[in-house]
Amino acid sequence: MNRPIISFCICAFSLPATYAQSDYTQYVNPLIGTQSSFELSAGNTYPATARPWGMNFWTPQTGKNGDGWQYTYDAHTICGLKQTHQPSPWINDYGCFSIMPTGNKKTFKEDDRRSWFSHKGEISRPHYYSVYLADHDVKAELTPTERAASFRFTCPEGMNYFVVDAFNGGHGINIAGNRVTGVSTHNHGGVPDNFANYFVVEFDRPVEYVENMDSIAIVGFKALRGEKVNAVAASSFISPEQALRNLREAKGKDFDVLCEESLQAWNDVLGRIAVEDDNLDRLRTFYSCLYRSTLFPRKFYEIDAAGNAIHYSPYSGKILPGYMYTDTGVWDTFRSLFPLVNLLYPSVSLEMQEGFLNAYRESGFFPEWCSPGHRECMVGNNSASVLADAWLKGIRVSDPETLWGGIVKGTQAVHPAVKSTGRIGHEYYNRLGYVPYDVNINESAARTLEYAYDDWCIYQLGKALGKSKKELKPFAARADNWQNLFDKEHSLMRGRNADGSFAEPFSPLKWGDAFTEGNSWHYTWSVFHDPAGLKHLMGGNNRFVAMLDSVFSVPPVFDDSYYGFPIHEIREMQVMNMGNYAHGNQPVQHMIYLYDWTGQPWKAQHWVRKVMDTMYTPAPDGYCGDEDNGQTSAWYVFSALGFYPVAPGTNQYAIGSPLFRKATLTFENGKFLVIDAANNDETKPYVESLKLKGCDYNKNYLNHSDLTAGGNMAFQMSDKPNYKRGSESTSFPYSFSDDER
Ligand code: CA
Repeated sequence: MNRPIISFCICAFSLPATYAQSDYTQYVNPLIGTQSSFELSAGNTYPATARPWGMNFWTPQTGKNGDGWQYTYDAHTICGLKQTHQPSPWINDYGCFSIMPTGNKKTFKEDDRRSWFSHKGEISRPHYYSVYLADHDVKAELTPTERAASFRFTCPEGMNYFVVDAFNGGHGINIAGNRVTGVSTHNHGGVPDNFANYFVVEFDRPVEYVENMDSIAIVGFKALRGEKVNAVAASSFISPEQALRNLREAKGKDFDVLCEESLQAWNDVLGRIAVEDDNLDRLRTFYSCLYRSTLFPRKFYEIDAAGNAIHYSPYSGKILPGYMYTDTGVWDTFRSLFPLVNLLYPSVSLEMQEGFLNAYRESGFFPEWCSPGHRECMVGNNSASVLADAWLKGIRVSDPETLWGGIVKGTQAVHPAVKSTGRIGHEYYNRLGYVPYDVNINESAARTLEYAYDDWCIYQLGKALGKSKKELKPFAARADNWQNLFDKEHSLMRGRNADGSFAEPFSPLKWGDAFTEGNSWHYTWSVFHDPAGLKHLMGGNNRFVAMLDSVFSVPPVFDDSYYGFPIHEIREMQVMNMGNYAHGNQPVQHMIYLYDWTGQPWKAQHWVRKVMDTMYTPAPDGYCGDEDNGQTSAWYVFSALGFYPVAPGTNQYAIGSPLFRKATLTFENGKFLVIDAANNDETKPYVESLKLKGCDYNKNYLNHSDLTAGGNMAFQMSDKPNYKRGSESTSFPYSFSDDER
């Protein structure tokens, strides 16, 4: 045993020195991923100045009102400091409004109020943003709370003007004394008719100039050169009164004190993983990824006068008690984002899970893509994975019977208005064992593969909940349905017609069609719960390895005929010089770890290190595709620690290649896990040996309970593969095929 200090383990309030003293926000660059466009995504992120999982984020706005690319690194001008709830440019924003200081210039027009700025005159941190708005000679600073924010504007001499813009659909702006109130109804769907974001902006002095156009207003104050005008802003999805209540998070507090509080909130979350290493670029990439992993899904609940959680339902439009979280697409985030929250932040996960239960109570369905209500997007029924994995990792929602009932219902129904919610094609799937290619349900093979994995998750959850064999039998059987799409001739998954024949013609390189934003080569690996079963159908270990190898060895050729043009995900594969491996999108992100099931785990170590080193950088173009609400970031966080949750719903993490010399994980149960790789460096991707709590450890996986029990993991790293370690089948991770049925 080699814990940091053994006595710490029994005291929840004592923390390792590295945890208490370090400022991890110094490594976070929120501008990573902002150098993106419609044609090529290097993240499609914006600099979210926010609290972890905060209800409101703030971003400088370079794009036009309504443009999903609201902040792009190449832009030269800013037209507002925007309260945003946008999860992705493809989904766009809702309930937004902006504040723009225009110095002595009295204008409200979007293009007229813009100011040039420089990244050299800009500071972007998770808890703080500032920029010098050159045309107006104003330095703007902001620091957020969960539902409010504080601003400090350093002004030029004379009358200073500020624009408050409630965006398209905004109305009801009212100005009285020092206070501007208004309503933003701006949205792109997923909201009931009564949706509104009630906002309030309070300045530290009475307004001296007012121009009010109902959805946009100008207020003005006289100032001396260098004088600071302060403001606080907040909003509520519930009511104007609740907005004033939320404003108390920031009102009456000194800007710098609030900024320090915000910094502490981030360090509490980021410091759960204390990395010690001298590679500054890797530290920056890691903590920037951890920051992106702790933003979404975000709080959509508020705190009432009695101190209880309440929320406006984006499903029913009612004000209801309890939690609500939103802005995530679980097709992306079931893979590693939710497992990361379950491992490191289970108390937050519990709130999320209770929120999803409320979503089911209020709409009849668990969310597949929510922003803020159900959105038509992507495929699968992967909410089952999110819900089952949390329960199986010990996160206990208050009402497991409602949880179970909702999950089962989701397998046999489709949301009447949002077809990607529930299970489209469930009648075919249950009768034939797959969603047919020729029945006018798009991306049918992707749906089938994900439903089969989801059914396995449901089966595992049902066993944990003590459900009867009879009730669980169909789920156990359907967990094998992926087999129905396996085409032995090509050793690949393939669309299948209702009469049992495979879809013709078949191109393994064709993106979309039977698959979703990927080709057969990517999707064939979507048997998260049964790699051994897939290996068996492929014809054994050598064939399986050859198929894995082939993903990297073929050129980045593609067939884009389904879309009619190379969608950005295709370009992101093409430009990375890693063959057909498409890390820029989700379907293939777990694939590398499947080498752990082959006796050749060093190939996983090689490729995972290569992806970390080449596809992630701490630069504005630092991601290799859409970041996607924490998923692509959580992949890096896990992988840099040395393990990854290939099949959420199991209690295992497949081992890869730890990136750092030392990382200390602090769990909410008060235990510490030290991941030690003292001889690690850029030249040593291979695991020579691993000791777990002092004992030799030859498995290619770690158990969840081994991690959360704390203790010490010691990796010996090498520049050469160890062909013996992890090569026996007893070292392979979980497969459903190996289970007793
Ligand atoms: Ca994606």
